[in-house]
Amino acid sequence: MVATEPEYHRILSEPLRSWISDSADYSTPVGLLACQRNPLLRKNTAFVISSTLSAPPPPPKGKQNKKSVIAPTLPTGVPVLEVILSDTVLFPEGGGQPTDTGIFRTQDGSVWPVLKVLRQGGTAVHYVQHVGDQTPEEALQKYFAAGVKIEVELDNGGWERRTDHMTLHTSQHLLSALLDTKLQLPTLSWSLTSSGPCYVEIPRGMTTEEILMIQNEANRLVFEGTKVHIEVQELDRTAIAPVEKTENGRAVGRGLPEDYTGGVHRVVHIAGVDINPCCGTHLPSLNNLQLFILPHTDALSRSATTVARLYFLAGPRLINHLTSTHNSLASTAALLSCGLPQVPERVAQVVDDRKSVTKRSEDLELELAKFIATEISSEMDKTSPGGLFRKHVHRLDDSPSALAFLTAIASALADLAAKSSLKQSYILVLSSSPSSPALTGTNVVLVLGSDDARVKIVGDGLKSTLGVKGGGKGSRWSGKLVGTWKAKEDAVVEEILEKVS
Ligand SMILES: [Zn+2]
Repeated sequence: MVATEPEYHRILSEPLRSWISDSADYSTPVGLLACQRNPLLRKNTAFVISSTLSAPPPPPKGKQNKKSVIAPTLPTGVPVLEVILSDTVLFPEGGGQPTDTGIFRTQDGSVWPVLKVLRQGGTAVHYVQHVGDQTPEEALQKYFAAGVKIEVELDNGGWERRTDHMTLHTSQHLLSALLDTKLQLPTLSWSLTSSGPCYVEIPRGMTTEEILMIQNEANRLVFEGTKVHIEVQELDRTAIAPVEKTENGRAVGRGLPEDYTGGVHRVVHIAGVDINPCCGTHLPSLNNLQLFILPHTDALSRSATTVARLYFLAGPRLINHLTSTHNSLASTAALLSCGLPQVPERVAQVVDDRKSVTKRSEDLELELAKFIATEISSEMDKTSPGGLFRKHVHRLDDSPSALAFLTAIASALADLAAKSSLKQSYILVLSSSPSSPALTGTNVVLVLGSDDARVKIVGDGLKSTLGVKGGGKGSRWSGKLVGTWKAKEDAVVEEILEKVS
């Protein structure tokens, strides 16, 4: 494991040294915790200061905010113990950085999952899952009585989580500092998302050139292994400048939380780049950070103001992101039987091909509709000159727009009528069903005729006898029927047509 250099954590006011507790008398305030003094430390031994049974959390009200998505939710129905220690390597949620998770090892060797750590006033409170056969009250007595020694540890999962958070939090400080100094773009807020790219919110969008310039500058500082250190002194709230606001009144960053009572003023320095008050755990060096900025900004409109989001990735999360995007690209390339670099060109080709196939199929449909209409019209001329021509035509069609095809036939018939090659009185039912009948299949029906009243009679008949849902106006009536279309349905249609006079 990499050790944090002694000059990483600098105590500027002497009294603070005695605030760091290594006894059972008091707890180290948030601001001076072991995780904040040495972010690479994975284990510490501590004394229990106090412990209590946690009251079950109230059910979440309304919409969950972003923080509650990131924070691990406490299991319901499992007793949870709240434990305050003399010191801890587990970071309590704060400054935009989510809580650590880890374990406690009690003196009998048993392991207790620490589900989350929260800051209450100036104190870190561990939420510990109750394990073992004894009651939670017995556990508090036996393992977590004041003065008892326990081991605190960032276990493998907890360390992985912390590494991710540290990498991204330090990256954010670096990114925000460069945006501010190089482009005068203040960071309005930022989000350490639970997965995928994180983002900073800035007052305007950025050009690709600007993004590249910031990324190059960041990675130059990474390459040089720029050092990070922490300075702490006693907090004097009156000496702290209030949070700045943009022209639009939007707060720039976040100030010291109102409810913080730890009394420590903690400032994170990135050598020559940034000085920023923050409680987070920060890497001692930018070495190996490798910041990657997604090459675009997303504009967000919020009531009166517009802000933009700039997404970034670093560390293990960057590798994971690249792996998953590479895998999507590789599987797309496999589907297209081409190499990765050819994917955009091949996709463009597929889209073009699809457009021309759709166009051709539309043209053919139109041609076919005319052909069917001509057939019907010539049959009409031959079979019932002077009388009423009644016909039902049923088709199989798997197109999602089967009704559009029936409508095309109807329009072709109307064209023939307009050219007066069709003088006959007629009433037609055109229906269409999927090629493989299914109970959930949708059948479509179109009624058309030379006389509006007859069309209405047939439409009403289909509604009342077959349960077709539909309606119409004038010479056309259309509807839908869910289920299988069988010989029985055909017979009913014939019967309805027969009755029309
Ligand atoms: Zn910070």
